Amino acid sequence: MINLVLFGPPGSGKGTQAKLIVNYHELIHISTGDVFRKNIQDNTSLGKLARSYMDKGQLVPDQVTIDLLSSELDSYSDSKGFIFDGFPRTILQAKNLDILMNNQNMHISMVISLEVSENELVKRLLNRGLDSGRADDQDESIVRNRIQVYENQTSVLKKYYSEKLENAFFSINGERDVDDIFSDLKKILLKYKID
Ligand code: ADP
Repeated sequence: MINLVLFGPPGSGKGTQAKLIVNYHELIHISTGDVFRKNIQDNTSLGKLARSYMDKGQLVPDQVTIDLLSSELDSYSDSKGFIFDGFPRTILQAKNLDILMNNQNMHISMVISLEVSENELVKRLLNRGLDSGRADDQDESIVRNRIQVYENQTSVLKKYYSEKLENAFFSINGERDVDDIFSDLKKILLKYKID
């Protein structure tokens, strides 16, 4: 079983790369952002709550997100592994992910961090906002707020995981062609003999 955390700021390409990996490996892609958006679309009470944070570029409260992740994990009980995209985003979420994994005799196999500069992130997100329909991609101040939230609350997880996982923490340049980044990811996954 392989459990991969794809890590990086908003707009760094986690979702794009996760979808490419899923074409090659039988892993389940869990994007907390996608699950929240599905709830918004379905007009659930979770969706309404999540939206009030997401539209401002803030994080949905930890406990809400952790509960959501937990029920997602439960719904795929016989998976060969997971790609986590957009989770964890805080230290508390990371600690709870460990607990959830331990409870099911699983662990995080590796963390891959995509590095992209702020100017490029803003450009990509505003560009995505032109046709994604996502309110949080359409306003530069919200986009910049999301990047700030990443700097303040999420980026500390790089230190957390690089210390915790040592040889299973990888940082790669995400400011290149999608295919070149994916080729680096494949090399990393190959090391784990999953090809
Ligand atoms: P991006 O990575 O481009 O910001 P996502 O789809 O991953 O896009 O997330 C969109 C929004 O969903 C975030 O700005 C946040 O409000 C909410 N969200 C997603 N994942 C989490 C999480 N792990 N913790 C708290 N909020 C989250």
